[in-house]
Amino acid sequence: MEIVKIDNTKCIGCGACVAIAPDTFDFDDDGLSKVINDTLTEDAKSACESCPVEAISTEEVVDVEYKEVDEEKAA
Ligand code: SF4
Repeated sequence: MEIVKIDNTKCIGCGACVAIAPDTFDFDDDGLSKVINDTLTEDAKSACESCPVEAISTEEVVDVEYKEVDEEKAA
């Protein structure tokens, strides 16, 4: 699955991403954008394309499925 990330060293706090995808982005205490939900929605993709300083990126992450270990078999 893909997630969305922000490079806060690039963000200029223009607010475009927060306006386009308020379920994904919000302002932090410094007035810069932060990710509040990293699920890559269509709105988040639009925000990514709209960022004037290319601070938003996406990253492919591997879904890890944790399985309970059968302790009797493992012993
Ligand atoms: S669109 Fe880019 S520069 Fe503007 S607030 Fe969002 S991350 Fe920061």
